[in-house]
Amino acid sequence: MTLAFDEPRIQEVVGALSRKMLINGEWVDAASGKTFDSINPATEEVLASVAHGEAEDADRAVRAAREAFEEGSPWRKMPHGQRGKVLHKLGDLILEHLEEFALLESLDNGKPYAVAKAADVPLAADLFHYMSGWTTKIEGNTIPVSAWDPDAYLAFTLREPTGVAAQIIPWNFPLLMAAWKVGPALAAGCTVVLKPAEQTPLSALLLGELAMRAGVPAGVFNIVTGFGDAGAALASHPDVDKVAFTGSTEVGREIVKAAAGNLKKVTLELGGKSPNVVYADADVDKAIAGSAHAIFFNQGECCVAGSRLYVEESIYDQVVEGVAEQARTIQVGNGLDPNTTMGPLVSQEQFDRVTGYIGSGKDDGAGVIGGDRVGDRGYFVAPTILTGTKEDMKAVQEEIFGPVVAAAPFNAEKDILPVANNTNYGLGAGVFTRDISKAFRTARRLRAGTVWVNTWNVFDATLPFGGYKESGGGREMGHAVFNNYMETKTVITDLS
Ligand code: NDP
Repeated sequence: MTLAFDEPRIQEVVGALSRKMLINGEWVDAASGKTFDSINPATEEVLASVAHGEAEDADRAVRAAREAFEEGSPWRKMPHGQRGKVLHKLGDLILEHLEEFALLESLDNGKPYAVAKAADVPLAADLFHYMSGWTTKIEGNTIPVSAWDPDAYLAFTLREPTGVAAQIIPWNFPLLMAAWKVGPALAAGCTVVLKPAEQTPLSALLLGELAMRAGVPAGVFNIVTGFGDAGAALASHPDVDKVAFTGSTEVGREIVKAAAGNLKKVTLELGGKSPNVVYADADVDKAIAGSAHAIFFNQGECCVAGSRLYVEESIYDQVVEGVAEQARTIQVGNGLDPNTTMGPLVSQEQFDRVTGYIGSGKDDGAGVIGGDRVGDRGYFVAPTILTGTKEDMKAVQEEIFGPVVAAAPFNAEKDILPVANNTNYGLGAGVFTRDISKAFRTARRLRAGTVWVNTWNVFDATLPFGGYKESGGGREMGHAVFNNYMETKTVITDLS
């Protein structure tokens, strides 16, 4: 196996990021002096030692962010156009460091280096470039008052940044999730404390370094590396105005409770169990390729993974066999091997969780294609199809967050929609058909924040993203995201 990077280069990139976190523009140790290990999921070896931030560190970071948000601070006085230039520069710097970022993502998360280089990193840069344009375009309005003499009052609205934002992110797209959160918050003029996932802290640290190089003032963007308790300390901190969280629905509920103390604004991007509806009139090759991509991309560790595949009966066997064939062509291995198209799962815990669900599907009577452990070191699982699944199976109802799809046939359009919507989640969904009316009808009726038609996994900085039901609330990306990070102030002036 040839790796895309040699050991000295890996040490150089990783070594520069170990042990410290970013508070008030400085690289600091945890107050306790403690560190924790980040593990390479492909080798199970220690990759880096990272500062173990706890409540005291979260508090230091919030205080720095609060001070940086005060009226008259360099950040608040920075002209909006200049703020845009800083964010644009950060996007440029991400692209300049494309290979380092892709390396870090592959080592820390396991995903193929080539995927991180082609998708995660450019999309993160694009997010900052897109957001940089908004800093000069977020405007209030003048408003005609309705019940009074129009010459008596002038009323208008101002859009102002919400304040200090705590942002807690998961491990599946470490850099991209940081970009989705940090980009709009900074564009809006907020200050940020970011808590990356314990499994994947490294790319966020490089992002912090580049943000300072781009001209983000000290204290505006802070990073606390640590575990769930550091996230909990941020979510309950009285001086935090807003929490943005991506992760499990379970922790989402904890965040809402913790944020209730000072009634912080909360946005949540939680789990999913996305239905993928394939009608018999679909372009079958496209449906097979799209359905395989929907579930196997990023090891299936996608909140929008198309994990429930419903295929109209007459083409069910053909589509299932086609997806199984695609699964067999997937090369599972170390993400730094150029031949690899699927890396390991992120951790032992995730490996146990995913294989547990495969076992439960089998025990409940589903057919299993794939599903074996690959190799004896690293958290590798072969892409898996559970066939002939029933709605009441655990593997059909709960988020697995791995390369495991549950496939079942259906008879007619009218039957499948209630089934497709039969989930507490509502993040993503998809439909494959050549009939445009059926496509739009289905898209209209699926209860999900994003519906793909004849495709899957297309994301863009311009497109709002978020969930219905227990998949969360609020939208990321697009200009809709500014509702998360801005207040609207109404000013009414007596003209007499
Ligand atoms: P979590 O929801 O536990 O973690 C997400 C983030 O929240 C991490 O930064 C985590 O810190 C932090 N966190 C954990 N507990 C708290 C808390 N009480 N208060 C504040 N922050 C907290 O996800 P897991 O990593 O445990 O994954 C478990 C499952 O969640 C997966 O199998 C998958 O089903 C789902 N998930 C969904 C994601 C999505 O995008 N919708 C993303 C990731 C996971 P730390 O990791 O350091 O403990």
